[in-house]
Amino acid sequence: MNEHEKLKEWIPFYAAGTLSEEERARVAQHLRQCPDCRAELSLWQGVSQEIRASDQTIRAPELRQVPVRKSARHLWKAWYILRSQVALIRTEIWLSSALVSVLGIIVALLMETVNAVYFLAPFISAAGVAYIYGMQNDPALELTLATPVSAQQILMARLALVFGYNILLTFSSSLLILFIHGQVAQFSWAVLLDWMAPMAFLSSLALFCSLLWGSVNAVMVAYSLWVIKGIMPELEFSGRYAAGFVSLTNLLGKFASPSHLLFLSLLLFVLAMWFTGKKQVRLLA
Ligand SMILES: [Zn+2]
Repeated sequence: MNEHEKLKEWIPFYAAGTLSEEERARVAQHLRQCPDCRAELSLWQGVSQEIRASDQTIRAPELRQVPVRKSARHLWKAWYILRSQVALIRTEIWLSSALVSVLGIIVALLMETVNAVYFLAPFISAAGVAYIYGMQNDPALELTLATPVSAQQILMARLALVFGYNILLTFSSSLLILFIHGQVAQFSWAVLLDWMAPMAFLSSLALFCSLLWGSVNAVMVAYSLWVIKGIMPELEFSGRYAAGFVSLTNLLGKFASPSHLLFLSLLLFVLAMWFTGKKQVRLLA
């Protein structure tokens, strides 16, 4: 790794002011001669100011004794954290989710069934969520720790943004297909829950696994489960592995009801939050 590549990775920490005196001087020296790194720095300074500014905006009413209800202030803070995170989420997530959704619409129209969209939705969502918080290579984490916003709030904000975006994509895709086929009357809350539950489950599973084993492995785990669940009943097995596959399918089938899946999603979400908090404490210590 050359000097530029190495120092470029330090820039978020430089912006957050968490480098040692010696490292700071080295970055400052390099910044004078590298326009690329200067651009990177101004990006991170913008982000850092955004997060700090959001905190000041929340404190300002207190100083002026303006009676702002506590809940309103919480909402205000949540809004600012959400807004600051939009820029920090990998841009590929928005684009690839949208592209795969378009693919889903095309397949659904060709197959004349909206189920193609429902089958693809958990894949898209799990892949996006697995990449919102890579512990090893997330420079924003150090920045986060230098501000009053906790890692858990950041994680929750990114999850809400990416998961919400995917819900919206799937919802609009399925409505479009039902509309084209003249079946809008088929839409119901039960159907909505039917596709949202596996999406929530695989997304929270991917999130949890990404914190433990990294994004790529998390995607593999979530995809394998969904493929097994989707394809297994269609296949016929013979030989000594058949019994194992059948019992696995049965096990997955038992958890396939929306309420079970939503409960498991909540559990995985809570575990992910707990794990993030624990990791942050360890990093700060
Ligand atoms: Zn450079």
